Amino acid sequence: MYTRMYISPVFSKHSHLLRTCAYNYSILRTYSLSTLKYHSYDNSMSEKDLQRQLQKLRREKLSKFDKVSPSTVTLQVLGCGAPGSPASLYVSTDHSKYLFNCGEGTQRLAHEHHLRLSKLEHVFFTTPTWKNMGGLPGMALTIQDAGVPEIKLHGPDGIIDIFDAVKRFAFLAHLTVSEANCAESTVYNDSCMTIRYVPLISTNSTCETPSDSDQSLIIQDDTDYYAHEFNKNGKRRIEQYQKRQRPLINKLPKVESSLRKITGCIAYICKLHPKSGRLNLEKCVEKGVTPGPVLGDLKAGKDVTLPDGTLIRSVDVCDPEIPGPVFIVLECPDENYVDSLISNEIFREYQSDGKIEDNWAACVVHFTPEEVLKMKKYREWMERFPKTTEHLIINGANESYSFEALHKIQHKLNLVHPTIFPIIGDSVDNSNDNVEKNDEELNLRIHRAKTLNAFHLRPLDGFDKTAEIKLNRKEDIDEAFNVDGFLDALAELQTEINAKSKALTHLPEYPKLLILGTGSCVPSKVRNTSGILLRINPETSLLFDCGEGTLGQLTRFFGKDKINGVLESIKGIYISHLHADHHLGLISILQQRQLITKYPVFLCAPKQIYSWLQIYHLKFEGINKSFNLIPNQNLILNSHKLPINIQEQLKDSLKIDQISTVEVNHCLHSFGVSVILENGQKIVYSGDTQPCNYLVDLGRDCDLLIHEATMEDSMEKEAKMKMHSTVSQAITIGQRMNSKFTVLTHFSQRYSKIPNLPNNPDDQNLLNVGIAFDNMHVSLSQLPLLPLFYPVLRILFSESLSLLEEKALKRKLKENRAVVDAR
Ligand SMILES: [Zn+2]
Ligand SMILES: [Zn+2]
Repeated sequence: MYTRMYISPVFSKHSHLLRTCAYNYSILRTYSLSTLKYHSYDNSMSEKDLQRQLQKLRREKLSKFDKVSPSTVTLQVLGCGAPGSPASLYVSTDHSKYLFNCGEGTQRLAHEHHLRLSKLEHVFFTTPTWKNMGGLPGMALTIQDAGVPEIKLHGPDGIIDIFDAVKRFAFLAHLTVSEANCAESTVYNDSCMTIRYVPLISTNSTCETPSDSDQSLIIQDDTDYYAHEFNKNGKRRIEQYQKRQRPLINKLPKVESSLRKITGCIAYICKLHPKSGRLNLEKCVEKGVTPGPVLGDLKAGKDVTLPDGTLIRSVDVCDPEIPGPVFIVLECPDENYVDSLISNEIFREYQSDGKIEDNWAACVVHFTPEEVLKMKKYREWMERFPKTTEHLIINGANESYSFEALHKIQHKLNLVHPTIFPIIGDSVDNSNDNVEKNDEELNLRIHRAKTLNAFHLRPLDGFDKTAEIKLNRKEDIDEAFNVDGFLDALAELQTEINAKSKALTHLPEYPKLLILGTGSCVPSKVRNTSGILLRINPETSLLFDCGEGTLGQLTRFFGKDKINGVLESIKGIYISHLHADHHLGLISILQQRQLITKYPVFLCAPKQIYSWLQIYHLKFEGINKSFNLIPNQNLILNSHKLPINIQEQLKDSLKIDQISTVEVNHCLHSFGVSVILENGQKIVYSGDTQPCNYLVDLGRDCDLLIHEATMEDSMEKEAKMKMHSTVSQAITIGQRMNSKFTVLTHFSQRYSKIPNLPNNPDDQNLLNVGIAFDNMHVSLSQLPLLPLFYPVLRILFSESLSLLEEKALKRKLKENRAVVDAR
C-alpha cells in the first residue's frame, strides 16, 4: 500500500530525500518501510542521524550472519537478456544479496518482481560496458534512499569511475560506493562464499588510449542539479548557487591519468562455504551429553569434556559437513576472448578433470553473446564440465518476456482503442522449452534464461522453471469486462469514435507520437521514465528525452525485426534537462544506432551534457562519433546562435522548418522546445517545469503541447516545491498559448495507473486534453479521439481513482485541521 503518510513532515526536513524528480516517493514506498517506521517515532532526528541509524540497524542485522554459512542460496534470472530486456542475475542468500550485471531496466524489473534491492551489497560486472552498467546510476540512487549504507563494485579495475562521471546528476551523499580489488590472485571472501576473479584477456588487446578525441574539449560541468530544491531553511539553494556560478571553463581534470580507458573482462568462480552438519541429538543422548551450553559448542565444531571426564568429539555427534557448491559467472564478449577462457588452467579444477569432485561446477551462467557461444571451441570448453553441470544462458538470443505489468495494462487499453494502444510483443516466442534440443544430444544441460527462472544452489535442487512470465491476454480482457459498467461505456465510446472517425479518415497518418515513458523520477511497473518519439514521417523521427530503458521500450514496441529501422529513423534526440530520469537511456540508443548507421544523430541538449558524454567516451566506450551536439542554449527563441549551415543540416535532416527552445522553471539548464514541421504543424514539449511564461510565448498557437503534469491539483504546494506543474496548471498553460491540443505526461509514480484528473466528468477544460500512457501510438490527426476515452478510463481505473480521491480528501482534512490547530 502506498499512501500519503510516506511523505511525512519528517522528510520535508531532509533535503536529500526530497530531490526533485530524483528517485523519491515510489522508492520509499517499495524499499524502505523500515526507515519509515522509526522516522515516525522521532521527529527530532537530523538527516544524518536518521541515515546513520538506518545503516547501523542494517549492519547489526548482517553481522549476525558472520559466523554461519547461509542455508538458502538461489540464483535468479532478473533480466533474461532478450531484446528490450537487460541481462542480469540476482543471487539471493539468507545473508545478503548479490547482483551480476546491471543493464538499463534492472531496477524496474527488481521492483516489478519484488526482488529486494535494499539488501544488495555487491554488484559484479563482467565487462565495463553500458550494456552491463547502464542501470547502475539509477539503481544506486534507489538503494541509497532505501538506507543501504554501502555497495561494493566488483569488475575490471576502475569501474567505479562511472560514478565519477555521473556524480552531477546522480548525487550520492549517503551511499558509499567502493571498488573491490579484483586482481587475478585475489580472492574475495565473506560469510556466504569465496569468489575467485579470473580476468579474461582479449587477443586483440591494444590498451586503448583516448586518442580519437581532443581532451582539451572536456568541459567541467559544476552544475548542482538539485540546487532548486528547498533546503532545511525553506530556501532554494539555486539563489545562492546562481550568485556564485562561474562561467564554464575549459579545463582538464586534475589528474590526466584518470582519463585512462577502463577495459577488461572478469569471470567469477563462486564457491559457497561448507555448511556444518546438524547436531545429531540421538547420538548426543547415546554419548551421555545432557542439554546445556555444551550442545552449542559441539554444533560449532568444538570438542567438549563432560563433567565425568569423557571427551566428546564434535564429529562423532554431528552429521557430516555439507560441502559448498560452485557456480561460475562469465562473459566472453567477443571471439577474441575465447582463447583466454579455454587456455586458463584455473577452470580445470571446476571441470570434470578437476581432482576434487566437490569443486565441480553446479551451474555456469553464460552472459556470452550467441555468436561466441556457438563457436566450436567454446562448446568444447563447455563440454569439459561434468554432465551434471547446468548451463544458464543469459544473452540477446533469448526470447521471452521480462516485464508483465506493462503488457497487462496494454491488453486492457487495447480494448479502448486497438491502434492507439496496440498489442505489443506479439512476435515474442515465449513457448520454447528452456533446454535446447541439440544440446541434449551434446550431453550439455543448457537452459535459455527466462526472467524469474531460478537455480537452487542450497539446498542443491537444480534448475527451477516454475516461475516465469506468462502473459494471458484473455484473462486481462476478462478482468476489464468484469468491471461494473465497462462494457456499456465501451459501446458508447465505440459509437462516438465511429461518428468522429468519419471526419478523421482522410487525414494523414504522420506525424505520429509514440509515447515511451510517462512517469517521473523512477520507472514504475507501467510507466517508464520520460521518452516521447515524434515520428515525423516513416523515415524521420525526433526523440524527446530518453530516460533509462527507453531503448528497451522501443524494442518491445517495434519488435526485434523493426527496431533497427526505427532507430535509423531517429535523426534527432532532444534532452530537456539533465535530471537522471530524462537522459540515462541516451548512451544505449547512441550505441545501438552506431551499430546500424554511420550517420551521427543531432543531439539537442543542455551543453553541460557534453561533460558527462565526453568522460564516458574517454573512459569507457567510444561514443563521440555517434552524435553532433547542438546546445539547447544556442536554440533560444528569437536569438539562435547556431551557424546557418548547421541550422540547415538540422532542418533538412529532421524535415522541420524550425526548432527553438526557452529556459523553463525547473533545475538549472532546463529547457522547453518547439518544433515547426515542414507542413507548418507546431509541436511543443515542456520538459519538466512549473507554469512558465516563456513557454507560453514559445508555444503560441501550437497544434500540440506536450506538458508535464507531475502532481494532482490538490498538491499544488508540493508541485511548487519541486518545481513541477499540476494537472490544471498544465491545462491552463495549453489554454494560454492557445494550443489546439494538450497531452499530459510525466506523472508522479503515485499515479502509476492513471493520474487524478479534475473531478467534473463534463469539464470543458478537458475537451482538448489527453493523458499519455506508455506505448500509446497516436497520429496528430487522431488526438481529438483521446478526450472521448475519459469515461471508459475512469471506469477501467475506478479503483485507483477512488483511492486517489480518498487520499486527496484526507489530505485536505489534515490541512484544515492544521489550520484550526494553528489558530
Ligand atoms: Zn523529470
Ligand atoms: Zn527534472
